[in-house]
Amino acid sequence: MKNNFILVLNCGSSSLKFSLINPENGATLLSGLAERLATEQAIINIKYDGKKEQAEIPAPFDHQSAILSLVAHLKKLDLVACISAIGHRVVHGGEAYCHPTLVDEDVKTAIKNLARLAPLHNKANLTGIIAAEAAFPTLPQVAVFDTAFHQTMPEKAYIYGIPYALYKDHGIRRYGFHGTSHFFVAQQAAKRIDKPLEQCSFISAHLGNGCSVTAIKDGKSVDTSLGMTPLEGVMMGTRSGDIDPGIIFHLVNQLNYSTQEIDNMLNKESGLLGVSGISNDCRAIETAYIEYHNPQAALALDVFCYRIAKAIASYTASLTELDGIIFTGGIGENSNIIREKILSQLSLLNFKIDLEANLTNRFGQSGLITSDESRAAWVIATNEEWVIAEQTFQLLNQKTGI
Ligand code: AMP
Repeated sequence: MKNNFILVLNCGSSSLKFSLINPENGATLLSGLAERLATEQAIINIKYDGKKEQAEIPAPFDHQSAILSLVAHLKKLDLVACISAIGHRVVHGGEAYCHPTLVDEDVKTAIKNLARLAPLHNKANLTGIIAAEAAFPTLPQVAVFDTAFHQTMPEKAYIYGIPYALYKDHGIRRYGFHGTSHFFVAQQAAKRIDKPLEQCSFISAHLGNGCSVTAIKDGKSVDTSLGMTPLEGVMMGTRSGDIDPGIIFHLVNQLNYSTQEIDNMLNKESGLLGVSGISNDCRAIETAYIEYHNPQAALALDVFCYRIAKAIASYTASLTELDGIIFTGGIGENSNIIREKILSQLSLLNFKIDLEANLTNRFGQSGLITSDESRAAWVIATNEEWVIAEQTFQLLNQKTGI
């Protein structure tokens, strides 16, 4: 077997997603998820060659133990020798990191310092990098930042309407996230219309548990709905998205909320979950809406879709032309209901859905979902892991001059 596969690692606070990918064609040799880390129930699930395997993760049940468990499986399957590098998803790269970067001591320090902007995510990402360095001491480690694609946003898009010193002195500005996903689907959409990405303008909607909408002009991000943190923008699974900031003072002054309670409420108890009172899972809400005519479920779907349609329409202000809209993420790729509701709000922009194509393009199937006389909208299944593998591979090839 060739030895140019990339092991892609995506560390969450209590999970580790991994894939072993051929960077040249995106083929996944092995993939899986270690979850419930930091608890005695920590387990690892591995998919390889059409088979699934599950194993307990030994004490101390942390990211290091999960990676050692993964290495043991890779050894058993005789796959260690085919790994040429490790690519890490790192959530926050701040202003300094707008390209994939070879990890060294300075980069680790920067990722640690940037944890002030993304405390949960960057800390977990760094833990994964350190664990991977220990497990694969001879392999290069590359960080691919979720914020990087949005570093092309102009100042007018990333500056908040608050005192400028807060940006200059403390880095308080809009950064945006899901960059790897928006970049991937834009590349794929450009291929569909047979135009170089640098000549394309799209609005992409990454709709999953986290949601963001991005305006892409000449292949570059020029605005995006997530901000300094992943709380701004459209409504999400459990996150509120935009609210009147005055609500926070009302909660503190009139209803005696603590900052921790507000943080929890806005990040974990709002969005689809908060409005429906049913679930953050779009499927459960759709079932309650269709099968039981639940009015809260109907309202949650209405608010969700209306806010996304408004974000899409607002981004026409960032563009001079629009080749089409792209839907991606767990909801964007699978929910014909959500896509139909969003596009029906956008008839003024000449979007007309093709109901049959909208039903067909689900569950991993990508394609055009608008009629012939409409402006284009596509469903495109995202593949962040492939981008991370590809960018890791390209960076190392540049460095070694291969
Ligand atoms: P992600 O964060 O990208 O994994 O997306 C998770 C979201 O996708 C959850 O809200 C799921 O309910 C939603 N999702 C997955 N499959 C479907 C489906 N068939 N119909 C509607 N929503 C779905």
